[in-house]
Amino acid sequence: MTDLVSFWINGARHTARSPRTADVTNPATGQTVRRVALGDEADVDRAVRAAGAAFPAWSATPALRRSRIMARLKELIETHRDELARLITEEHGKTLPDALGEVQRGLEVVEFASGVPHLQKGEHAEDVGRGIDCHSRLQALGVCAGITPFNFPVMVPCWMFPVAIACGNTFVLKPSEKDPSASMRLAELCKEAGLPDGVFNVVHGDKVAVDALLAHPLVKAVSFVGSTPIAKYVYETAARGGKRVQALGGAKNHAVVMPDADLDFAADAIAGAGYGSAGERCMAISAVVAVGEIGDALVQKIASIGAAYKVAGGEAPGADMGPLISKAHRDKVAGYVDSGEAEGAALVLDGRGLSVAGNEQGFFLGPTLFDHVGPEMSIYRDEIFGPVLSVVRVDTLDEAIALVNRNAYGNGTAIFTASGGAARKFQNEIEVGMVGVNVPIPVPMAFFSFGGWKQSLFGDLHVHGMEGVAFYTRTKVITERWPSAAMPASSARSTVMPTHG
Ligand code: NAD
Repeated sequence: MTDLVSFWINGARHTARSPRTADVTNPATGQTVRRVALGDEADVDRAVRAAGAAFPAWSATPALRRSRIMARLKELIETHRDELARLITEEHGKTLPDALGEVQRGLEVVEFASGVPHLQKGEHAEDVGRGIDCHSRLQALGVCAGITPFNFPVMVPCWMFPVAIACGNTFVLKPSEKDPSASMRLAELCKEAGLPDGVFNVVHGDKVAVDALLAHPLVKAVSFVGSTPIAKYVYETAARGGKRVQALGGAKNHAVVMPDADLDFAADAIAGAGYGSAGERCMAISAVVAVGEIGDALVQKIASIGAAYKVAGGEAPGADMGPLISKAHRDKVAGYVDSGEAEGAALVLDGRGLSVAGNEQGFFLGPTLFDHVGPEMSIYRDEIFGPVLSVVRVDTLDEAIALVNRNAYGNGTAIFTASGGAARKFQNEIEVGMVGVNVPIPVPMAFFSFGGWKQSLFGDLHVHGMEGVAFYTRTKVITERWPSAAMPASSARSTVMPTHG
C-alpha cells in the first residue's frame, strides 16, 4: 500500500473527505511512489474557510513581523534544499542539479517577499490643498488561491504564496496532482518558520478542486500557471465571479540566431535551453530561427551537442536530462515527432525509442532536432513541451521578428548576435514579455516580474516583483484635514467640486 498525500489545512495534515485519489509516479522508473487525495468542494471549502478565519489577525500583523517569518522561511528552505530537490526529482523527473536550481529560484522570491515593509509602503503628499494631506495604502485582499503546474513544483508556488502572504493575505494552494509532495513540505516549513495556522493551506486535486476554488465566494484573487486552454478557462471563470485573476499560459519560445553570432556559444545555450528539464519548462527554447547563411553550421552544432547529452534518471550522476512527466505525455511528444516527419521537416536527431539501461520502464525521449521546419507545421505551431527543437530558416532579421510576432504565444524569446543594433531593434519590435540578448532563458529574477504576452498570459499583472505586490494588494487613497485654530475649516461648506488649491 503506497502512502497517501493528504491536505494541509489550518496548520496540520488533514484527511480528504473525497474518496478520489490519483497515482503519483516516478517518471524515471514508471513506478507509483504514492497516491494523492483529489479534493472535492467540501475539502476546498474547509481550506478556504480556514484561510478566511486566519485573515483578520494575519492582515493586522505588522509588516515587520510578516517579513521576519519570510526571512526564517527562506533560511529553512535553504537548510532543506536537498530534501526538496530530491522530492522534485522523484516525482517530476528533472535532474537533481536542475531541481536544486529550481529551489534556489523559489527561495529568492521568499527573500524578495521578506522586504515587504518597504514593498508595501504607499505614497504621501502633504498640502494637496490648504491644510489637506493625501496618502495611499496597499491593503491585503483576503483569501488568495494559487493553481500550479507540474513542471516547477517548488518554484511556481513560490512565485505566488510568499508575496501574497507577506502582503497580509492568506492562501490556498492547489498544486499539480502529478507532483504534490514538495508543496506539503513547504507547508510544514511555513509552520516551522512561525506562520500562524490557516495562513497557508494546501488542497490537492484536479478540475473538481480548481472549479470549487474558482466558485468560492471567499476567494478574492486567483493566480494560475499552466497550459493556455486552462489558463484562459481559469481567467474567464474567475473574472466572471468578480475575482482578480492572473493566469499564465503556455509558450513557444524562439531563439533568433544572427549570422554574426558566436555559433558555438549560441548552439550550447540553445541545446541547454531546449533539452534541459526534457524541454518541460515554460521558458524552454523550442523554435530556433536561423538567419541567413548560418543554418547548416548551427544545426550541425546543436545536433552534436544534443547527441552527446546523457539522458538518465534525475539522480544519476552527470545526467543532462531526465524523463518526461508521464507515459501519456512521452507518447504525445513522440506523436509530434511522427507528425513532423510526415509534414516534411528534416529529422536530424531522433529521440524516439530511447531506452535507459536499468530504467526501461521510465518515460524517456531523447533530444530531437528538426531542420527546415515550416511555420504551418504542427511541430512549429503547437507547444510540444518536450525535448524537440525545430529550426526555421529565414533570410533577414525583419523576417525573424515578423515570424516571432505572428506566433500565438509571447512568453520568452532570445536573440544571439554580436550586433548592438540588431539586439536593440529586436528588443524594440518583438511582441514577447521576456527577452534575452545572448541569454537563452531570460529570467526569472524575483525582484523583476515574470510573465508573457498574447496567449501566454491572461490578465494584466505578472507574478512577483512589484507587479506581484500590486496583484496581491488593493490601493486605498486617503485625503485628510485636521481643522485647528491656525487652519480653520471655513471653506468646507460648499457645493462646488472641491479643488483644494
Ligand atoms: P495544466 O494546464 O495541465 O495544469 C495546470 C493546473 O491546472 C494543475 O494544477 C491542474 O491540476 C489544473 N488543471 C488541469 N486541467 C484542468 C481543467 N480541465 N480544469 C481546471 N483545472 C485544471 O498544465 P501542466 O501540464 O501541469 O503544466 C505544463 C503547462 O504549464 C505548459 O503549457 C507550460 O508552458 C505551462 N507553464 C507556464 C508557465 C508560465 O510562466 N507561463 C510556467 C510553468 C508552466
